[in-house]
Amino acid sequence: MVLIVKTIILSSPSNSILKFKANQIHQTVAVCIFFWCWLLVIMSCQSNHPESENYQTREYQLGIENKKLLILYDSADPYGSQCFEQTVIACQYAKILFEKFDLAVSTNLPDLGVYSSVASATEFLWKLDRIQSQKIEQFIRNGGRLTLLFRGWNDHLAAVFGVKNRRLPAISGENIHIYFEKEFLPGGKDLVIENQHVSFFKVTPEKAVTVIASAKNFPILWLNSYGKGKVLYWNTGILAQKINRGFIIRSIAAVQPYTAAVIANIGLFDLDDYPNSTSNLKLEPIKTEFNLTMTEFYVLKWYPDLLSLAKSFGTKYTAALIFNYNGRTSPPYHFYEWLNGKIKLGGKTIKSSIYAARSLNATTELGLHGYNHQPLTLKNWGSVENMKKALSAARHRWQFDNLGAEPQTYIPPLNVYDSTGINVVQQVFPEIKQIGALYLGNFSDGQYRDFGPEPWNQNLYVIPRNTAGCILTEFFRRSMISILNSNGIWAHFIHPDDVYPIGERYQNELLAGLEINSLSWYGGQQKNGIYYHLIKWMEFANEHYPWLRFLTRQQAYNVMQWYDRTQLQVSARGHIVDVESNIAPFYFAFYLDAKNKLEAMMGGELLHEYPTEMGCHFIFKGYEHNIIMHFRNRIIHERE
Ligand SMILES: [Zn+2]
Repeated sequence: MVLIVKTIILSSPSNSILKFKANQIHQTVAVCIFFWCWLLVIMSCQSNHPESENYQTREYQLGIENKKLLILYDSADPYGSQCFEQTVIACQYAKILFEKFDLAVSTNLPDLGVYSSVASATEFLWKLDRIQSQKIEQFIRNGGRLTLLFRGWNDHLAAVFGVKNRRLPAISGENIHIYFEKEFLPGGKDLVIENQHVSFFKVTPEKAVTVIASAKNFPILWLNSYGKGKVLYWNTGILAQKINRGFIIRSIAAVQPYTAAVIANIGLFDLDDYPNSTSNLKLEPIKTEFNLTMTEFYVLKWYPDLLSLAKSFGTKYTAALIFNYNGRTSPPYHFYEWLNGKIKLGGKTIKSSIYAARSLNATTELGLHGYNHQPLTLKNWGSVENMKKALSAARHRWQFDNLGAEPQTYIPPLNVYDSTGINVVQQVFPEIKQIGALYLGNFSDGQYRDFGPEPWNQNLYVIPRNTAGCILTEFFRRSMISILNSNGIWAHFIHPDDVYPIGERYQNELLAGLEINSLSWYGGQQKNGIYYHLIKWMEFANEHYPWLRFLTRQQAYNVMQWYDRTQLQVSARGHIVDVESNIAPFYFAFYLDAKNKLEAMMGGELLHEYPTEMGCHFIFKGYEHNIIMHFRNRIIHERE
């Protein structure tokens, strides 16, 4: 278009038509500039690449009147308090505004009518006397909404809960499997939560309630309509577990007429221990399957297959390089193993590890796993100096081998580090901005991390990993869909040696008895190898979360800086929903508790719609700070 403008300006032939031409030129230029700007806006808006996202912030107060959630808890209730803690974190990630009310301080409830709904995260609901219980009963009868995130009992509220029992029911403390009869979260069809050591009330539900999950013939999760209102009841304490955080958001949304939750929309896929120092031996099962050495398998088969996966599913990778597997924790720090692996390319024998590191595709970021695989803890290394020298040797080797810019991502070996170790990483590699730690595990081992600054070093940021390997177990399915419904992040890792019966193995309890050691990479004609398991996992992700945006860790880090600052307000009247955010563009999940259809939208785009038996589940991208959505059916009725 710029070229057209130039041509017109240069070709003005005679004076007589000059004025007319000038006008025409101005108009044409104006039209062209307008279209050019429009094109730029469209291009910048519709890009799904965070590196080219043009983030806009608006720091002034958001103007929409947003009803808040009221969270009831009891600081004297040790078990319920853990559920309360998870509820607070989940709401903070989702940017759901809330107020909290501590029953240990007062049992005189505030006016419930001013809240979007009430969520109870305590066992101590029995503290509410008849008058206070009536406040809740009337609130629900008039159209209010209640979620019991932790099983609690109150004789006055039995009918509100939707159970036939009128007095405190018997409690069971057995080890149970929880079976989902309804698809509570996308991808959660027939989900089983196995081996839960949790107690539940032996209640009999009223006929009208919708049972969502059950165990041992007793309902564990159900939805009850009471008066004009709705109640969701978790007859267990499993929402006190961090892994179930997404179930908290979904539970609150299952009763509220509408709920908006900000999501980061990030898919991460780490390749731990690649590139690595590796062996020229032929080991089973790859020896029989491909007649390749370990080195050849990693560089010529495994990584190319992952690139083909990236083509099919849009996956991006962060490869975590490791130089050696020697157990050295004191100098000298040599690199014999790093230079050991060999492959033949074009008749020439080359060093495979350096080749692997230099030939990563553009979809792959190169991060650091370590000089060797010894977790960076004082216990392992004996002194700060020992760690520092090993990492300095790694840094020099990185530069000597010309592996590109210094790493920005650190993936801890065996998912373990201590406060000293992580500080040494940052001293030797000041370029490193983030850690791929574990979401679950033990905090003191550098695990059980959350999304945000590392507790032991505020200059480092953690985007923790919640699933691993190639086989989608029930545990991993729950973990994956739970966090995707909490803050819209899935962070996964695999190893090149997953196929060998050596190396970093999966935790047995996570595999639930699956015999992965017997599986090869492709698995011959039956295609039952772990590669095809991984494809099935990606197909599962793509079917239920097609909106998920795969990023390298560097890209994800940038997105998180904006996501963390995002604030959201939402309100609805009749068919119309107004959403306002201080940061644009941004992504958000939008839940409706009943069937509905989006008819029109301004300032954003519908990315995905997932109807469930509990209502509708939409994923939107907002381009503007203010978004208006128009739905076919009324969202808010008279009282609300
Ligand atoms: Zn490793």
